Amino acid sequence: MAGSTASGGFGARTSTPRPTGVAVELLVVHNISLPPGRFGSGSIERLFCNDPTPHPHPHPFLELLADLRVSAHFLIERNGRATQFVGCSERAWHAGVSSFAGCHGCNDFSIGVEMEGTDFLAFEPVQYAALAQLTRALRAALPLRAVRGHSHIAPGRKTDPGPLFDWNGLPGRPTCRRTGCPRARSRQMQAMR
Ligand SMILES: [Zn+2]
Repeated sequence: MAGSTASGGFGARTSTPRPTGVAVELLVVHNISLPPGRFGSGSIERLFCNDPTPHPHPHPFLELLADLRVSAHFLIERNGRATQFVGCSERAWHAGVSSFAGCHGCNDFSIGVEMEGTDFLAFEPVQYAALAQLTRALRAALPLRAVRGHSHIAPGRKTDPGPLFDWNGLPGRPTCRRTGCPRARSRQMQAMR
């Protein structure tokens, strides 16, 4: 997989096992910057690793996040560097209240990818290249059938990855085959056993 794997070892609060039998069919694209609008501070990595040590550059916004349970599987920084924080077989906490294809709770059946950025600034070409490479690798390993933005699965509540995210810049984007809710299908399959 592209890039490196975080090895902080603080992640016990940032992921849990996925529900049994649920296929990972959705890739959700987000944007994030910590503090808002600032890049490369290391604060995102500290948040996703649940790093308990005092922050070297304290900021009021970061204190607000201290007790939040939030994580994503991957972060793609402005320079295109991709880092994995949560294993794909684990459930990360990136989607919140959300739905896709009539199924609620997208964390159960999705991979979360955070693009370092904001709603107000174009993403870097190297970030799209890293996202495309990551998407190809994930499609080879998982039954992904759609890529959506956080704003698509939580409309009215979330706006990321934002209006400047170029969906056409993501080659190999899988199309949604609309075969229904992943969790409902898993229940059907279990009932048939
Ligand atoms: Zn988001």
